[in-house]
Parts: sequence; C-alpha cells; structure tokens
Amino acid sequence: MQLTFADRTALVTGAGRGIGKSIAVALAAEGATVICVSRSEQSCGSAADEINASGGKARALAVDVSDSTAVGDGAKALLDEYGVIDILVNNAGITRDGMMLRMNDEAWEDVLRTNLNSCFYWTRALAHPMARKRWGRIVNISSVVGLTGNAGQANYSAAKAGMIGFTKSVAREFASRNITANAVAPGFIETDMTAGLDESIHKSILSSIPLRRLGRPEEIANLVTYLCSEESGFVTGQVFTVDGGMTM
Ligand code: NDP
Repeated sequence: MQLTFADRTALVTGAGRGIGKSIAVALAAEGATVICVSRSEQSCGSAADEINASGGKARALAVDVSDSTAVGDGAKALLDEYGVIDILVNNAGITRDGMMLRMNDEAWEDVLRTNLNSCFYWTRALAHPMARKRWGRIVNISSVVGLTGNAGQANYSAAKAGMIGFTKSVAREFASRNITANAVAPGFIETDMTAGLDESIHKSILSSIPLRRLGRPEEIANLVTYLCSEESGFVTGQVFTVDGGMTM
C-alpha cells in the first residue's frame, strides 16, 4: 500500500533515541517534515542531522515535555513558523520503577508529568490549528502495562493507562474536525529503556512472548506511520497492541 503524506508536518517527542527516533525516520522517509523533540539538544540534534543527511526534512527542538510553559512556548514558535503541525506523536517517556509502598512522590510525579501531562500539553497546544484545517493525526505511545498493570510500575502503568483515556476523549472531541487520535501499546522493545534488564528478567520476559523475541523500534514505527497517514482516516479512538503476542 502506498501511504500519502503530501506536505505534512509532524512533531515526534522523544525522537532522540529508540522508538521515537524510528518513528521520526519513518515519517521523514514518507516525505513529512519532522520536528524531532527530546530533552537534550544533542540527542534530537543528531536524529535530525541523520534524517537530513539521508535526504529527509527534519529539525531539532530540545524541550522538557514535562514543563507546561516550555511546551507552550515551543509550540507557539513552531505554529508561528509552520501555521499548523499536522501530525503529533506523543512518544517521550521515562520509567522510575519501584514497589508502590516504597515509591516516593518524586518518582510518581516525574513519571506522570513526563509520560501523561506531556500528551495534554502538546495536544492542547497543537490541536486548534489542526481543527481549523479539518485534518490531523495524533498518536500516543502507551504500553501494554497500561492495559495489564505491572508490579513495580504503578506510576508508569497509571500514566500509560491515563494516556489511553486521554486518547479516547480527544478522539471523541475532535472527530467532527477530521482529527483522529489513537494509542499504540508496545510490549518489550529493544531500546535503551529495556537495555538495562538483567539476564534472568530478560529470560523470563522472552518466555512470556509467543514470538520469543523483543520487538524492534521499526516495528512500532511501521504501525505509527500508517496511523499518521491519509489512509488511516477512518481509524480513531483505538488502542493497538504490538507485543509479539504477549497479551492476547
Ligand atoms: P528511550 O529511553 O530509548 O528514549 C526516550 C526518549 O524520550 C528520549 O529521546 C528522551 O530524550 C525522551 N524524553 C524523556 N524524557 C523527556 C522529557 N522530559 N522531555 C523531552 N524528552 C524526553 O525510550 P523508548 O524508545 O524505549 O520508549 C519510547 C516510548 O515508548 C516511551 O513512552 C515508553 O514508555 C514507550 N514504551 C517503550 C517500551 C520498550 O520496551 N522500550 C515498551 C512500551 C512502551 P533524550 O534522548 O534527550 O534523553
């Protein structure tokens, strides 16, 4: 299937590494102009450089997505320049794992702010011009643990489940403006986030995945690219699990 991305501008958060970088690369390969957002200048800068070097169109924007004012200011500057950002992928995320009884406020709030509040900040900032244009695509990267829960990840699971409720509400609010909003829930994917897992945990994870391997960032990016395309226009308010069959 040929996907259509004529003259689209996309913003991907957490595009410096891992899944977000793969999404940025895939959208740029389809012809979209991609704004790569991450925390560090160096990380989003090198992702944007890589895309530009391979013939795509990208630029970097270092913003702490958990900071409402910084997101608002960043979004305003982009809208002044581009008029509208057609595609928003909320992918930036962190973990601060620990058993719930021993979890401190900081670990709870950091994860909620970075993973969930950021979706609200970016969507609020960018949805109005999309609505005016009567076209938009919003994809939020949740997680299978937002559906199943996970011992040691009460903060992360709550944020990821919250993203699903947020996605469905946005889908309902903006459907009449031809803006779709969907969530993708990855299982275990090979990135820096999972690189630190110790051998025994890695083994037990593999035994819980029918396909017996971790996913690759590109395998998330493929689905996200479809959800951002013209061709996915009748798909909204959904959660798509990509986890090698771990949750069926
Ligand atoms: P990585 O840790 O590899 O990359 C995270 C990216 O998010 C980085 O580019 C980082 O910026 C950025 N980021 C983190 N905090 C902020 C912040 N406050 N402001 C701006 N940018 C920030 O993560 P993954 O690629 O593994 O994960 C991407 C998304 O997918 C996350 O939401 C994660 O929860 C979700 N996910 C991942 C799974 C996995 O197995 N890997 C499974 C299920 C869901 P910088 O590069 O500057 O540090």
